Formats: sequence, structure tokens, C-alpha cells
Amino acid sequence: MSGRGDRSGAGRRRALGQNFLIDPDVARRTVEAAGVVQGDRVLEIGPGRGILTSPLLGAGAGVFAVEIDERLADELERRHLPGLTVRRADFLRFDLDELPSSRMTVVANLPYSTGTAILERLLGAPARFPRIVVMLQKEVAARLAAEPGARAYGSLSVLTALWARAALVLDVPPACFRPPPKVDSAVVRLDVSPTPRVPVRDAEVFRRVVRAAFAQKRKMLRNTLRAAFGDDAEALLERTGIDGRRRAETLSLEEFAALTREAERLA
Ligand code: SAM
Repeated sequence: MSGRGDRSGAGRRRALGQNFLIDPDVARRTVEAAGVVQGDRVLEIGPGRGILTSPLLGAGAGVFAVEIDERLADELERRHLPGLTVRRADFLRFDLDELPSSRMTVVANLPYSTGTAILERLLGAPARFPRIVVMLQKEVAARLAAEPGARAYGSLSVLTALWARAALVLDVPPACFRPPPKVDSAVVRLDVSPTPRVPVRDAEVFRRVVRAAFAQKRKMLRNTLRAAFGDDAEALLERTGIDGRRRAETLSLEEFAALTREAERLA
């Protein structure tokens, strides 16, 4: 993992999404969006060279930072910043029970390649992370925050909406990073509910319904649901009163929840 051959000439590791933020104003505004106050416990994933870590500590937070790159973790630790704990680990494999608090605000500039997987992991433990403020590829941020009917509305929007209200906070152009990435970035804030925001019993069934409905975005629900639920698809639509000629991109969170409740009854 830490072999020198993995690094580019600039000393960064491309596979780990190491585009470092260099604009302190963007860092400050990102931390402000998280509403961090004195004494808050913050989880930072991928602190890198610490541009977000410094204003978080400055706001009085205790920061627990999980960094996969040992060299960066060493550098950060050598600065002996009061209030900072650095852990060398892959967040995707990190045992959440090792976190210092059962409820933490998350602030991170996520690597592009694993950003959605990291977010999925966070939303998989909604009671632990009531607020998540992350920088991501702009296109992904737009999908997270999209409402029904919007071009960016898709399965990621609905799966996120089950647990969180998402709002775009800030656009961040490539020039704010070194090296500059090829795509635009954005900061998104998620206010997370500890329980589903609409009544469903089984989040796995919800996921199955949503994935099936969006599997072919342009097709009618009658057809997309049939692929996953066979002959039961008609019954789902009939019992929920949802017109089978509609497309997934027009359905609200509540309508997906209604389909899920019927699918739970069939299971
Ligand atoms: N926070 C810094 C900044 O804003 O400049 C660095 C952001 S950079 C986009 C992503 C950071 O996440 C890098 O420091 C990288 O080494 C780290 N990283 C990548 N994958 C990770 C993972 N699975 N777990 C923990 N850290 C990871």
C-alpha cells in the first residue's frame, strides 16, 4: 500500500483521490456549513494535509481523523495539534465502534472514486452521524440533493432521501485544488434522521424497489418493476394507486415508501 511506486512525481497517490484543497476560504465555509461549535466531536475522513482539520479545531471541535495514507497521517500527527486524534485506516473497513463518541458530525473532502461508498457506509449508521458535510464530485452532489422531476434525480437521490435531507452548500471549481481535478466539485450538507424519514420497515426492500424502478430510467414503472417483482408488480401498483405508465423519475419519496410497504406485505 505504501510503496513509493504508487506515488506520482508530486508525491500524491492518484488512486486515493489525493486532490488537496488549497483554498482556505472554501475550507472555512465548509466547516461553517457543518455548524461546528466548541466541544463538538467531529469525524474527518481523509484529512490529507489538514486544510479542513485546522478550522475544525479552530472552532473548538475534537477531531478524530481517519487517513488511509500513512505518510500523510504521520505528517499530520507530527504537528501535535491539540484536540486532534489521527487514525491510520481505510474508512471503508474501519470498525465504527472504535469511534470516540456514539454521535459525531462528519466533515470531509472525499476521494472521488470511493466517495459514494463512504457516504453509503455513513448513512448505514444514521444514528451515529446526524450531520454530514462532504465535498464530492459536483455531479454526485447534485444527484444527492435532487428532487423528483429534476434531471439529476435517480436512485442515489431516493436512497439518500430515506435517511437525510440533502442541500447543496457550495460549488468548488478545480482551481481550488492541487493538483486540479478534471471535474467540478461541490459541498453538500446532509441532515440525517436516526430512523427512516418515511414509514418503511425494511430498508433492504426499499432499496430493491428503488433500484428496480430506476434500472431503466426511461421505461414505464409497470415494466421496470416487473423485471424485479414478476407478476406481483401489477398488484404493487394497483394497491398503491400509482399509475404504471409513470416513470421512476417522477415518483416522490412517499410513493417509493408506499410501494415498499406493499412489497413488504408480499414478502
Ligand atoms: N482533506 C484533504 C483536503 O481537503 O485537502 C484531502 C482530501 S483528498 C480529496 C482525499 C483524502 O482521503 C486523501 O488524504 C486520501 O489519502 C484519503 N483517503 C482516500 N481513501 C480513503 C479511505 N478509504 N479511508 C480514509 N482516507 C482515505
